[in-house]
Amino acid sequence: MNDVSNLSQSKKGEILIVDDTPAHQLLLGDILASEGYSVTIASDGLSALSQARSINPDLILLDICLPDMDGYTVCSTLKCHSRTRNISILFISACDQPINLARAFEVGGVDYITKPIERIELLARVRHQLQFRRIQAQLIDQNLRLQQEIRRRYHLETELKANQDRWYLALQGSNDGLWDWDITNGSMYFSDRWQEILGYEPGVLPPLRRSWQDRVHPDDLEWVLEFIRYHLECVTPNYYAEYRLRDQTGQYRWVLDRGQAQWDDRGYPIRMSGSLTDVTLRHQSEEQLQLLLVTGQAIVQAKDIEQTFNSVLTKLCQIAQWDIGEAWTLDPELDQLVYCWGSHNPNPNHPFSYLSFEQERRKFTFLQNQGLAGRVWAQNSSLWLEHLDSPPGLMSDQALFAKVGLKSAHGLPIYADGTILAVLTFFSLTQRPRDARVIDLTQAVASQLSSFMLRKQTEQALTRANTELQRLATLDGLTQLANRRKFDEYIHTEWRRALRDSQPISLLLCDVDHFKRYNDCYGHQAGDACLRWVAHALESQAHRVTDLAARYGGEEFAIILPNTDLAGALAVAKHVVHAVRELTIPHKGSSVSDYITVSIGVASTIPRSGTLPTRLIAQADRNLYQAKAKGRNCVCGEGEVRGMSDEPSEDRL
Ligand code: GH3
Ligand code: MG
Ligand code: MG
Repeated sequence: MNDVSNLSQSKKGEILIVDDTPAHQLLLGDILASEGYSVTIASDGLSALSQARSINPDLILLDICLPDMDGYTVCSTLKCHSRTRNISILFISACDQPINLARAFEVGGVDYITKPIERIELLARVRHQLQFRRIQAQLIDQNLRLQQEIRRRYHLETELKANQDRWYLALQGSNDGLWDWDITNGSMYFSDRWQEILGYEPGVLPPLRRSWQDRVHPDDLEWVLEFIRYHLECVTPNYYAEYRLRDQTGQYRWVLDRGQAQWDDRGYPIRMSGSLTDVTLRHQSEEQLQLLLVTGQAIVQAKDIEQTFNSVLTKLCQIAQWDIGEAWTLDPELDQLVYCWGSHNPNPNHPFSYLSFEQERRKFTFLQNQGLAGRVWAQNSSLWLEHLDSPPGLMSDQALFAKVGLKSAHGLPIYADGTILAVLTFFSLTQRPRDARVIDLTQAVASQLSSFMLRKQTEQALTRANTELQRLATLDGLTQLANRRKFDEYIHTEWRRALRDSQPISLLLCDVDHFKRYNDCYGHQAGDACLRWVAHALESQAHRVTDLAARYGGEEFAIILPNTDLAGALAVAKHVVHAVRELTIPHKGSSVSDYITVSIGVASTIPRSGTLPTRLIAQADRNLYQAKAKGRNCVCGEGEVRGMSDEPSEDRL
């Protein structure tokens, strides 16, 4: 193929002379060869065509008059073939046969020369043509390279575009927002998706760092900034933080923020870019799980309902993002809801005095259908109020809500077996659309609380029943005084205490005089009534809380007097004798009085180790026997305080 770029093959150029006149061939050949051109000769058109194909010359000097065909035909034939098309053709015309210039250029000639040949003219035209051809070759070469470059760039751009598309698709697929922070001028780029995560239309947020920083949760900001600084100072290989960002509605969303910085040659950070992933849902599920776990634990560990409400409401407020949470329980008459517990989530965007709000709330009580709690009670199902400021009609607590600025609320009942146990109410300082997730979560917690409250109620009922049983087990049925079993238990307990504290303990044993006769005279029922009166008189003289009056058996009673010495015990005994006498219960059969009387034996001691209260009881019994022996209706007592050998003291009324 004749290619102009091949001109360099022969240094000066390859020239084909086509002329049928030997003299001209010789002349032209000599001139050109002497100038260093490589010369080939052809004497007719056909051989010119075949030579042109085989040697591929840079230039053909073509005579117009040839024996077999004219030069124009040769020229146009050469121009028809791709292999020879680019060979420069210079026509030679004889002076007797003037050249048809129009035709010469039309068939593809580039120049012409007329005979007789002038050496200088010939060489000038040949040189000019070859030079032109060289420049043309360079141009074609450059053009080729340019085309290659264009193709290469086109290819690169297509690649880049495909790459960008791939990244875009990948990012779209990952649903991440992108950010790019120019540290040198503080400007920041947020991608549309970044803004969308926070609920903003593209372009709403100014491209400034504070558009991000002002939205970071105050509790997170400090450590997030520290994480960024660590990375900028190359302490960490990349930046990675999971924190809360405030969205357009004022709620906080959990985000995973990742980034990578770029540093200049001196090691100063100049740029940082990264991606933001919305992980709110994952966080919410984790938190919900944690809440249910915490609730479960609180319910297991809590001692009382208030403590449980405290921990559960606090956690619920945090997780479900309520500003206030309350629990209302039924009063003992079960006819109204009363305030039980409240909790709040400090809101830096809407500071208000929770303390005074709570004080106000404590004053509220709700009948069915009154206020939010009463409405929840009445309808026995969850109630979500998106707009507290547009009065729903039944809000008796409306004025307080307006004063504090509460905008939305959620209330739900805690009930078991169709019976309401309590109502939970939650409030927000922002308008919150109904959130099924929050409702489900709160309901799950409410059902946990319901089983807890049921359990507590059962426990309380059981405790009450136990206490009553205990009371009944230690009580004398006839007189309602402590029975013998309680007497035995108590005297042992107090004996040990007195021993430990080295304090005196005294005992009164009291027996109704001639009671058999009373029964005989007035009947058994009257006897029972009499015993009840005597018991009452006895109990009225046991003033201290530690004193215990008991029915010892039959018509015998006892009073245990801890921390009381003999003198004190004798005084109490005299008062008892007096009090019984003062009952003035007629007793015709008595030999000592017209009325019912008692005899009392008193004993007192400071217990010594290794001794038992039986000794004290025996002593009191002995003294009671003495009192009987001495004529009844009297007190007889002695004790170790004054020495067990002391003369018995006696008092007769
Ligand atoms: P003394 O002055 O020596 O104590 O003579 P007394 O008759 O009171 O003593 P005694 O031990 O001989 O009789 C006690 C009587 O108390 C016998 C019994 O029927 C009566 N008694 C014991 N428990 C009750 C009771 O719960 N109700 C009635 N009505 N009588 C009872
Ligand atoms: Mg008796
Ligand atoms: Mg008696």
